[in-house]
This record gives sequence, C-alpha cells and structure tokens, in this order.
Amino acid sequence: MSRRPLRIGLSARIYHPEPGATGLQSKSLHYLEQSVAHWVMSREVMVFMIPSVSGDGIVHRSRIRLSDYPQYLDGLVLQGGADISPQSYGEEPLRPEWAGDRLRDAYEMELLHEFMEAGKPVLGICRGAQLINVAFGGTLYQDIPTQFDQPVVHQHADYDKHAHAIEWDADSSLARLYGERRSGGVVSIHHQAIKALGKGLRVEARSAEDGLIEAVRLDGKAYVTGLQWHPEFHPPGAEHLLDCTPILDEFLNAARGRRW
Ligand code: MN
Repeated sequence: MSRRPLRIGLSARIYHPEPGATGLQSKSLHYLEQSVAHWVMSREVMVFMIPSVSGDGIVHRSRIRLSDYPQYLDGLVLQGGADISPQSYGEEPLRPEWAGDRLRDAYEMELLHEFMEAGKPVLGICRGAQLINVAFGGTLYQDIPTQFDQPVVHQHADYDKHAHAIEWDADSSLARLYGERRSGGVVSIHHQAIKALGKGLRVEARSAEDGLIEAVRLDGKAYVTGLQWHPEFHPPGAEHLLDCTPILDEFLNAARGRRW
C-alpha cells in the first residue's frame, strides 16, 4: 500500500479591510500566493492554508484552535507578505508605513509554536524567516536602506525578477545540501531584514556583498529554517539562480519523518 501524500500547512496572508472599503474588500480576507503553494506541491504534497482563528468570528463558539492543526498536518510553511510589526520585537514603527501586521504576527507565532510543540518542521519564506527570528527574541531592521550602511538592492520595482548573490559557510546546512558550492543567486523582495539574531538560531547564509543575514536555522534536532529569499519565484533550472529543490526536499524529509 502506498503511503498518503504529505500534508503541509501554509500560513495565510491576511487582507484587513480598510475604512470605507465596500463589497468583498470590506471583509477580512485570507489568501495564499499561488507560486509558494505550487513550489511546495512540486513534490507529492497536498497544501492546506490554515485560517486565523484570532478574529471576532463565530468560530469561538467551537472548540477548534490553531493548536488542533499540527495533529493532522506534517509540517508548516510560513509564507511571505506584510511587514512584521516593530511592536512584535519591542520597537515603535519609525514611519507609519512600516507599522506591519501585528495580528498576523500573533497568528503565525502561535502556528510556529504549535507546530514546534508537535515536533513538526517549519519552513519560513521571506516574512516567515523574519517571523521566526522575532519569535526567538531577535529584532529586525525596519527598513534596510534607512538603517543599514551600504546595502545592495534587496527590493526592486522588477519585483520577482530581482536577484542578488548569497553565500554560505562550509559548516552550514546549505553546504551539506550543495556540496562544494558556496554561493548562488536568489530572488530578493524585502526591505526589512534580520538585525539581532534570535536565541538558538544560527546564520545559514548571508547576502554576498553586504553581509545581511539571508537564512537562519534553529540549533538542535527540530527543523526550523527561514529563508529571506523567494525560492518559489523561479523554476529549478533558472540560469544564475540557486535551485532550491534540495532545501524543499530536506524540509519534506523532516515532515515525512513526523508523518502520523
Ligand atoms: Mn535579500
């Protein structure tokens, strides 16, 4: 008998209605970006988006909690999206437009906690990497161009066409996955970045030219990894860009080990 496909949970992007919005946009929307779902589904995986239960909805009449999800899922992907709220790491936003999404922070931190508690692996992408860092007590640059000296371009009008180089050390997990190779190009769409590293995390990769942290991983047995870049926005064979399939496979192998 063949084993069932892996079931991976995906955190929701959240659209909060703005004052004056009408129709569908007057509602709270949970959504996923198709590329990240398809990237995870490029192996034998079913993807399930996990809605937040932190709103005022009628869901509170039931006993379903976010903590119920890890029991039925094999791993968690935290997808990209809105900025992390500086308040989530003890700062006030330096500009109103950098206020981030504190509700989503709380929802994803709870998901991270619950999946870790259940011993299920967690992979964070872009915002997800920042969320992991903040969840472990780290901080962020609220805006790289304002707060970091001489950065390379990490966010560009070309959006998912913009890439820069990253590099990693011989003793990193990436070195284990990529052999002799120590660098690669990655799609970069972020204006926040990890500043102080969270407790128990180690740096897995840095931006080659300016040294900004681009990947982190939790020390120890549990699989918790964050990638500041977007592996989902290019095909595996794209020229000059790092094929991130080995990273996906490592995450899925950890999930397979925990399949119930
Ligand atoms: Mn970058």
